[in-house]
Amino acid sequence: MKENYKNEVRYYTFPAFDEYPEIVHAFTSRECGVSTGYYSSLNMGIHTGDDLENVKTNYRILCKTLDLNPDNIVLANLEHGNNIRNVTKEDAGAGVFRDFPYEGTDGLLTDEPGLILTATFADCVPIFYYDPVRKVVGIAHSGWKGTAQEIGSKMVERMQSDYGCKVENIIAGIGPSIGMCCFETDADVFTEFVEFPYLDDAWFYKKDNGKFDIDLWRINLEMLLYAGIPEDNIHISGLCTCCNSDIFFSHRASGGKRGTMAGIISLKGE
Ligand SMILES: [Zn+2]
Repeated sequence: MKENYKNEVRYYTFPAFDEYPEIVHAFTSRECGVSTGYYSSLNMGIHTGDDLENVKTNYRILCKTLDLNPDNIVLANLEHGNNIRNVTKEDAGAGVFRDFPYEGTDGLLTDEPGLILTATFADCVPIFYYDPVRKVVGIAHSGWKGTAQEIGSKMVERMQSDYGCKVENIIAGIGPSIGMCCFETDADVFTEFVEFPYLDDAWFYKKDNGKFDIDLWRINLEMLLYAGIPEDNIHISGLCTCCNSDIFFSHRASGGKRGTMAGIISLKGE
């Protein structure tokens, strides 16, 4: 991913998405916000225990940096599941400046300009989607539980069924999150994926201590390929949040004492 600095805010973008001037997308870092302590400083998490006013200020900082209207943020109420919402104008502001009134939503899609689809992450895998033909954007929160429930490919199915997208036109970006280098798990996590028909053996490494290193990037890549997205259309950041916990909040690196980053994507307003 490309590292960007604007108004002293550091954020990351996929060059393949940057090629489309009609969309804005970003994955934030932990720098240049107003939160303090272990939320320091650009904490985008509403339910992290941080001062809510500081989090709202952080969203305003991000929106100013990206020239977006904060009233149009729609922040998903995550539950590590695979529910997906088709977002419309009536949802504008939900999640940050007022409640997000829908239980457990880990994927957001829209074809309406102006809305800022947002989800938060601190090791879980963000997946960005764009169909430049049908002009549909999406974001999914796919930690190991969401990956086990295949939210990544369910997003692709919904783009096809609900918005008329053709799978060959969809581009996808797998953003900063915990890499195989740091994601050691017990067998219970490993067994979630062993039945996936599209995986070869490269997505895990069985260690001498009986634990498993698991590659969520590869599992999601194979899932998106199996869903029909062409390989050239799928982009992986390769940035491990746990290895880079000076730049990113990491649940594992911090022992759970941390804020969250935001992934956002929006069709520019008219
Ligand atoms: Zn790592």
